[in-house]
Amino acid sequence: MRIVVKVGTSTLAHSTGRMNIRHVEDLVKVLSDLKNAGHEMILVSSGAIGMGVGKLNLPGKPSDMPTKQAAAAVGQCELMYTYDRLFLQYNHTVAQILLTGEDVDHTERRENFENTMERLLELGSLPIINENDTVATAEIKVGDNDTLGAIVARCVKADLLVLLSDIEGLYTADPRKDPSAKLIPVVEEVTPEIEALAGGVGSGLATGGMATKLRAAKMVAEVGCDMIITNGEHPEVLYDIAEGKAVGTRFIGKK
Ligand code: GLU
Repeated sequence: MRIVVKVGTSTLAHSTGRMNIRHVEDLVKVLSDLKNAGHEMILVSSGAIGMGVGKLNLPGKPSDMPTKQAAAAVGQCELMYTYDRLFLQYNHTVAQILLTGEDVDHTERRENFENTMERLLELGSLPIINENDTVATAEIKVGDNDTLGAIVARCVKADLLVLLSDIEGLYTADPRKDPSAKLIPVVEEVTPEIEALAGGVGSGLATGGMATKLRAAKMVAEVGCDMIITNGEHPEVLYDIAEGKAVGTRFIGKK
């Protein structure tokens, strides 16, 4: 299977912005193992801004563009340095790709990206993608990595997109507020009723929320790709996912 895994800041970093070493190490181990088992793995990783905040000792997520972009420049380095080192332990070579919305809207640039991805996968490397936050302003930004994950999954014709989040999946109500909320295991189609279940933005340093995840589900469903939302706290769930077991919420792609 060709699997795109998107991991959010809430999984990669503590609320201080410092790296969640246990989560990152577990994630790298499982991705390496799934690659050894013959799957093609692609990682869409957030965390650049969050980790820049930690490394620069900023008081919280910056609101102004230059500080955000500076934090991303520092954090992206930290992120890739860590991935490179950890994946190397399992003999895997990572590749960094930073995209903006413009890159994928522009046909020629998108094709270049697609060709590079194909070649990287043929060469056996593990592409790690993030938005190019240091240059992307509001006008040219994809804006959130759930959507970026969906764009990447479409470009590489992935079989599956997995969003690792700080929530188990889509619930019938907000489980943080309503204890009677129930997990929805399968969504056949993202209808307006399903969209009505999405609240606003998620926690702390994170960017997306359920709304961006549902948009991502629609984008990949259109091209026949399934999407799963699950909790990134235990990346081992990716083994179950690769075996086709029921985990989190699965959105079925149109076949
Ligand atoms: N590109 C942002 C970062 O690396 C994250 C965007 C998102 O998590 O949706 O900090």
